Amino acid sequence: MRASYAIGLDVGGTRIAAGLVERKGRIVKEMRTSTPKGGPFGVVDAIIDAIGEVATGVHASEIAGIGIGLPAQIDFGRQTVEFCTNLPLGGVDMRGLVMSRTKHSVAIDNDGHTAALGESRFGAAKGARDFLMVTVGTGVGGGVFIAGELYRGHRGLGGEIGHMVVDLDGPDCPCGGKGHLEAFVARPAIIREGRAAAETYRGSGILRRAGDDPGLITAELVIEAANAGDEAAAEIMGRVGHVLGEALVGLVNLLNPQLVVIGGGIGETCPLIIERATQAISSEALAGRRDVHVVPAELGNDAGVVGAAALAFDEHDSREGLHR
Ligand SMILES: [Zn+2]
Repeated sequence: MRASYAIGLDVGGTRIAAGLVERKGRIVKEMRTSTPKGGPFGVVDAIIDAIGEVATGVHASEIAGIGIGLPAQIDFGRQTVEFCTNLPLGGVDMRGLVMSRTKHSVAIDNDGHTAALGESRFGAAKGARDFLMVTVGTGVGGGVFIAGELYRGHRGLGGEIGHMVVDLDGPDCPCGGKGHLEAFVARPAIIREGRAAAETYRGSGILRRAGDDPGLITAELVIEAANAGDEAAAEIMGRVGHVLGEALVGLVNLLNPQLVVIGGGIGETCPLIIERATQAISSEALAGRRDVHVVPAELGNDAGVVGAAALAFDEHDSREGLHR
């Protein structure tokens, strides 16, 4: 049977979003809650509660399954959490736990992948067969679509755009590596740069926005200042866009995508990032590949939820032998 709904969850370090989603990507019912601190079971309980809430009033047979996007390295083939920096989920059998308590089939994936799936089916990359998605937020994630399919790699761990080396002598990355893209463009780097600028006269516009308290400077404030034309803030965000663009030059040369979608809390709110990334690609990518469009994501906060639901529909349909 072609079930009408799937439940998609976007689990982040600070919040969990869940939605009851139709096949066409419309969210019928949605809820958001804070991610519990402490051990993994609190997180699992919160996920179960969120599922219960959005599934209320819908018959179980109408639900194709549950998709969960996690801020983690997922072995997609084995459906296990290999490594998770922001939440205590490494080694936790998330799929088994949720499946046994909800009686629905469950599929888990990396949150960059679910966001890319969402944009691919219902957002900025609709109809594109070869595209990249990069999400810039607290970390940097993404997904690589090749010939209409999400490229997962040997064990399903592929697509970690944030952990490409962009500077051999660069700063430490939260993953333990050095000089990775994430260490230059994610939220902590922008905060660090914003605070450093605020120590000088040039950064006074940023400091003023934080009520003259450097400790209150956030990435959002730096972006707000950059969008309002503040020079020091625009320099910081321009650099973020430039470094991202340099990383994309390598990917564009390697994969020749038609589209690059920039999403995430940072990527979606700062046009300067897209502008500078586009400049880097159009001046540096190998000939013939420069027609790639760099565009903002369209689904915003909903990308993770609808993408996770799309994953659940896909798993359901391939189980049932249905074609999408
Ligand atoms: Zn890294």
